[in-house]
Amino acid sequence: MNSKILVTQSSMPSKEEYWKEIEGLWDSHWLTNMGEKHDLLTAQLEHFLDVQNLALFNNGHMALELAIQAMDLHGEVITTPFTFASTTQAIVRNGLTPVFCDIDPVNYTIDASKIEFLITEKTSAIIPVHVYGNICAVDKISEIAEKYHLKVIYDAAHAFGVTYRGRGIGSYGDASMFSFHATKVFHTIEGGAVSYRDKEYGGRLTRLRNFGIQDEGTVSELGANGKMNEFQAAMGLCNLRHIKEEIQKRKKSVEGYREMLVDVPGLQLPVLQADVETNYAYFPIVIDPQIFGASRDEVCEALKKQNIFARKYFYPLTSSFSCYQGKYKDANVPIAKYISENVLTLPLYAELSMAQVKRICECILKTKD
Ligand SMILES: *Cc1c(COP(=O)(O)O)cnc(C)c1O
Repeated sequence: MNSKILVTQSSMPSKEEYWKEIEGLWDSHWLTNMGEKHDLLTAQLEHFLDVQNLALFNNGHMALELAIQAMDLHGEVITTPFTFASTTQAIVRNGLTPVFCDIDPVNYTIDASKIEFLITEKTSAIIPVHVYGNICAVDKISEIAEKYHLKVIYDAAHAFGVTYRGRGIGSYGDASMFSFHATKVFHTIEGGAVSYRDKEYGGRLTRLRNFGIQDEGTVSELGANGKMNEFQAAMGLCNLRHIKEEIQKRKKSVEGYREMLVDVPGLQLPVLQADVETNYAYFPIVIDPQIFGASRDEVCEALKKQNIFARKYFYPLTSSFSCYQGKYKDANVPIAKYISENVLTLPLYAELSMAQVKRICECILKTKD
């Protein structure tokens, strides 16, 4: 049997490098609560991500939940259902009503031309997703937000290091959430961050991260515990040293996939967006079963038989989760539904070899015969 290939594999620094980074913690005994590593990583990431302000969190989901809470929203929030559970759950857990907008058929992000039809007097924000690291129509979205006085929080979980017109993607909108989960391009084992524009907002956000504590004796917000610990931050400091090389290696695999799968009738490959420097986070293909000759599910099963584990990211749509049934207006999202039913995200990580990419592509192409 051929060796197992999972959809992703976490990158690790050498044991020596990580040990060197954490060794000092045995002297300081300062393990969490905005320690030295935490502060150093914050500064390095502000620089690397090219954002004005950044706050670190213990995971991306908590970062998003608190980013929404700190914005003091009410009523309805326009978002997309073609995302990881976290995006919609963070909205709902803030007591807000998700209003599902359809996606663009080519880059799978929110279809900005459909947002205005969904705005009501109850709408307070737009929470779009830079899905797979593809960027949303950020200019059009800020135009709409300005016109209707809406806040914009991006779920940028997939967009670490992505730039648009030479600017860090986290500098668009009022705030952006990045995930540093082990499966993401850059990770701190578990972790996340929020980049934001407004300093006052940042004050509220960082208080929410620490139980709402303002100072000794004053608890001014309904907070939670969202603090990143020193071992997480140390992993981030190590991984950040290698991130450029990491992204270059992913790029090689992506080029391999493109070479072997381009021009195959019935396969839609990720697009290259203009003015965007990408991070090669994912390689989703959309399979038209009629034209290709096999369905997404058939391809996924065939790969599994060869010990290759691709993932149906993102299926099902969040709008169809059983925990939301009967609570919200039915989502009119035909494109999201089609993409969700036909998309397959192929294995992609820095250590994936060209031979493995070839093996995966050959297996995919064989299913149509
Ligand atoms: C990973 C992810 C999150 C949540 O991040 P965690 O760090 O795993 O909590 C949120 N949104 C999207 C789109 C993600 O892929």
